[in-house]
Amino acid sequence: MERHTRQRAAIRGAIASVNRPLSVAEVLVAAQQQVPGISLATVYRNLRILADEGELVQVKLPGESPRYELSGREHHHHFQCRYCQRAFEVYGCPGTLAHLVPPGFLVEDHEVILYGQCSGCIQVPLESRPRPQAGSIIPPGNNLQPSRS
Ligand SMILES: [Zn+2]
Ligand SMILES: [Zn+2]
Repeated sequence: MERHTRQRAAIRGAIASVNRPLSVAEVLVAAQQQVPGISLATVYRNLRILADEGELVQVKLPGESPRYELSGREHHHHFQCRYCQRAFEVYGCPGTLAHLVPPGFLVEDHEVILYGQCSGCIQVPLESRPRPQAGSIIPPGNNLQPSRS
């Protein structure tokens, strides 16, 4: 029981400590700092429980594995880096965009996802930047430097 509580706290804490939605793989890396040896299956299971309990919400990006963020956040949107695949929160909103639909239509909701280069990736020259597979994780900072082999 004690162990389970600690695992869940580490997983929730991993998401709470960054201001962006995390993939399961990113949660695993962060949670392992608190609970060495925590497994992917444990992370999956606890993310599902935390989502069922309403603590976390899934962020769905087209063609991507789900990301998780704390629930109850203000209306916001997301930015996804095309190079490291990380998702970020974007504050601000273009509004209802009701003027985009034909007359007689009613807009009830919207989703806005911006794509581009995050502040970490933009510092690496384009030609030496890795082209990661969809869903792969490349940590920010020095690890972005291409390895000379
Ligand atoms: Zn990036
Ligand atoms: Zn909006």
